[in-house]
Amino acid sequence: MAKIVMVEQDTCTACELCYDRIPEVFKDIGDGIADVVKYDIENDEGNWMIVPEDLADEVDEVADECPSGSIIVEEE
Ligand code: SF4
Repeated sequence: MAKIVMVEQDTCTACELCYDRIPEVFKDIGDGIADVVKYDIENDEGNWMIVPEDLADEVDEVADECPSGSIIVEEE
């Protein structure tokens, strides 16, 4: 089962952690606010990227370390 990830911009504190650590998945969209680099799934909850399998553990770690809990990871 693939993992999917999204960023809640409303609560992101622009700490730079996620895109510094995993630029393959996260990017700065301005003023330090983060988003995923591409949208694979768009629904009512937000815009999700399918996590590359080789980065799944690192994405989980960054989601845990995000100071505002703005990175949401789910099983697709
Ligand atoms: S780690 Fe969290 S607070 Fe920091 S830039 Fe990424 S989403 Fe925003």
